[in-house]
Amino acid sequence: MNFHIMTLFPDMVMGGLKESITGRAIETGLISVNTVNIRDFAGNKYNHVDDYTYGGGAGMLMQPGPVYDAYQSILEKKSNPDKKMRVIYMTPQGTPFNQAMANEFAKEEDLVILCGHYEGIDERVLELIVTDNVSIGDFVLTGGELPAMMIVDAVSRLVPGVLGCDESAVYESFYDGLLEYPQYTRPETFMDMQVPPVLLSGHHKNIAEWRYEQSLIRTKERRPDLYEKYIAENKEEYQQYQKRQNKLKKKR
Ligand code: SAM
Repeated sequence: MNFHIMTLFPDMVMGGLKESITGRAIETGLISVNTVNIRDFAGNKYNHVDDYTYGGGAGMLMQPGPVYDAYQSILEKKSNPDKKMRVIYMTPQGTPFNQAMANEFAKEEDLVILCGHYEGIDERVLELIVTDNVSIGDFVLTGGELPAMMIVDAVSRLVPGVLGCDESAVYESFYDGLLEYPQYTRPETFMDMQVPPVLLSGHHKNIAEWRYEQSLIRTKERRPDLYEKYIAENKEEYQQYQKRQNKLKKKR
């Protein structure tokens, strides 16, 4: 999978992505990250890419020309010339990013991510090239670089082979609409706190049931919105779980 990141700060983006799991994925060629410095397309001797906003107001705005030319340079490099690329503009005005979006983006061969800076980017070039407006939350950052790194990280870990074991992404929070259950590692006792005995039992069915129950409890407590949605969409699975629980109670 190839990420093309349009930014004024390519070193900032690569500095983060070259580390750890994404770094290894780049080294092994499972993903590629092509940063395109928008300033290289400034087209003036001062390398200016921003200017005052028409109509007045505080701050500077990125001009449309350099952004458009940077995008054209990516079109020349894309792996499948016949396929239209998705161009994601990182903006606080976008749809909040979530796991479903990450899953969708992971199906693409090439993904272009556009990072704004200053007051943002001239609307006309956004109208021309952007396919998706994506936000990472209801707050305002100085630039789109950190949001872009988040997208690359979340999407990369869904690319087969990027995680050591492909199973890992399957049991994590949001995968099935629930938050992940609590997890434990050695030692068995830490500050007088024990690992739940069922996890030491080796009984796979009981462990799976305990994990499902813990996921339900945790999601209900921490994300009631997700919990309600899960119950509504997985009625049968939830009812079967309740039946199993009732049987257990009767036995006791
Ligand atoms: N004037 C813009 C507005 O009110 O919508 C905010 C511009 S912000 C200071 C500069 C850039 O940071 C944006 O163009 C965007 O790329 C990025 N950015 C800031 N907050 C973001 C967020 N919550 N999600 C995604 N990108 C964000």
